[in-house]
Amino acid sequence: MRALRLKAWKSDPVLEEVPVPSPGPGEVLVQVGAAGACHSDLHLMREFDEGLLPWAPPFTLGHENAGWVHTLGEGVTGLEPGQPVAVVGAWGCGTCSRCLDGLETYCERPDLAPVPGGGGGLGLDGGMAEYLLVPGARHLVPLPEGLDPVQAAPLTDAGLTPYHAVRRSAAKLVPGSTAVVIGAGGLGHLGVQVLRATTAARVVVVDPRDAARDLAVASGADHAFAPGPDTVQAIRELTGGVGADVVLDFVGSDDTLALAAASMRQVGDLTIVGIAGGTLPVSFFGLPYEVSVQTTYWGNRRELVEVLDLGARGLLRAETTLFTLDDAAEAYRQLEHGTIRGRAVVVP
Ligand code: NAD
Ligand code: ZN
Ligand code: ZN
Repeated sequence: MRALRLKAWKSDPVLEEVPVPSPGPGEVLVQVGAAGACHSDLHLMREFDEGLLPWAPPFTLGHENAGWVHTLGEGVTGLEPGQPVAVVGAWGCGTCSRCLDGLETYCERPDLAPVPGGGGGLGLDGGMAEYLLVPGARHLVPLPEGLDPVQAAPLTDAGLTPYHAVRRSAAKLVPGSTAVVIGAGGLGHLGVQVLRATTAARVVVVDPRDAARDLAVASGADHAFAPGPDTVQAIRELTGGVGADVVLDFVGSDDTLALAAASMRQVGDLTIVGIAGGTLPVSFFGLPYEVSVQTTYWGNRRELVEVLDLGARGLLRAETTLFTLDDAAEAYRQLEHGTIRGRAVVVP
C-alpha cells in the first residue's frame, strides 16, 4: 500500500510503498477513509529534532483518522468489519490511573504503551496510508449515524483538542463572558464552533488571514480582528474594559502569548494549545490577578464521543479541503503557506 512517511527529523515526507500490516491479537486493521493534515506535523518536519520527544521517525504521518474496520485481530469483539469508526489518537498503556480515567494523552507508564506519549502518526505508523493498524479496540469509536469518515477525521484532533480546552474552562464561559480564539485555522475554526455549541460566551477571533477570519465568522464568531497594535484595545473595548474571560491560543508564539496575556480579565484562563514554541514570562504583576495559565494536549475518548455527537447533529462541521494520498505532501505545502481553508484532509 502507499503511505506518506516521515523518514527523519527536519525533512519532507515521502510517499512510499509499504506492506499492509496484519493485526495481531487484540489489534484492529482499519481501512483509512480520511486522515487530516495537522500543523503539528509541520512542526515535526521543520523544528523538532533528536531527543526532544520520546519517539522518532521513521513512521507514517497522519494522527487524525477515521475509516472502516477491516480485519479484527484474535480476541477482538464488539466491532464488525465494514463498520465506520473514528480513531482515538493517543495510545497509552491502558492500565495506569490516567489511562483508566481515559486520559491516555497523559499515560504515566509510557514504558508499557505502544509508543511513549504518542500514537499512530506520532511515533507509530499513522493514517496517511491505505490501512492503519490500531493496537486496541478501545482506540476506536463507532461513528454515529450521519457522520462519514471525511467529516469525522478532522473532529478527532482539530475538533477534539479545542473541545477539551473549552470544557476545561466551561465554568468561566457563562452568559456575558468573552472567549478569544487566536488562530482560526484547522483547530481554531472548530474551536469557534465548539464555543458556540457548548457555551454562551461571546466569541472573538484574531487571525492575520482574511480567509481565516471569514471562515471564523461563518463558523459563528461575533468579531474577527487581524492582529495589530490595536487588537488588545479592541478586545478591551468589546468587554467594557475588563478583558477576556478565556483566551485560547492556537498559535503559541511570543507575539500571540503576549497578546493573550494583555487581553486577559482577572480570574480568567489563558490556555496554550499551539506549539509554535513561544514563551510567556510569568510573574506576580505580569498578569491580571488569578489568571490561570495552562497548556492542553489533545482530548480523551469520552470527549471524542461527545464531539462526534455534535458532528452528527450538525453542531460541529469541519470545513475541509480534500487531497488524494498521491497529493498528500501538497496538502502540507499548502498548510505551510497558509492557503488551506479549514482542515486539509487526505482521502486515500
Ligand atoms: P493551522 O495552520 O491550520 O492554523 C493556524 C492559524 O493561525 C492560521 O489560520 C494562521 O493564519 C493563524 N496565525 C498565524 N499566526 C498568527 C498570529 N500571529 N496571530 C493570530 N493567528 C495567527 O494550524 P492547526 O492545525 O490549527 O494547529 C494550530 C496549532 O496547534 C499548531 O501549533 C499545532 O501544532 C497545534 N496543535 C496542538 C495540539 C495540542 O494538543 N496542544 C493539537 C493539535 C495541534
Ligand atoms: Zn494534531
Ligand atoms: Zn497509562
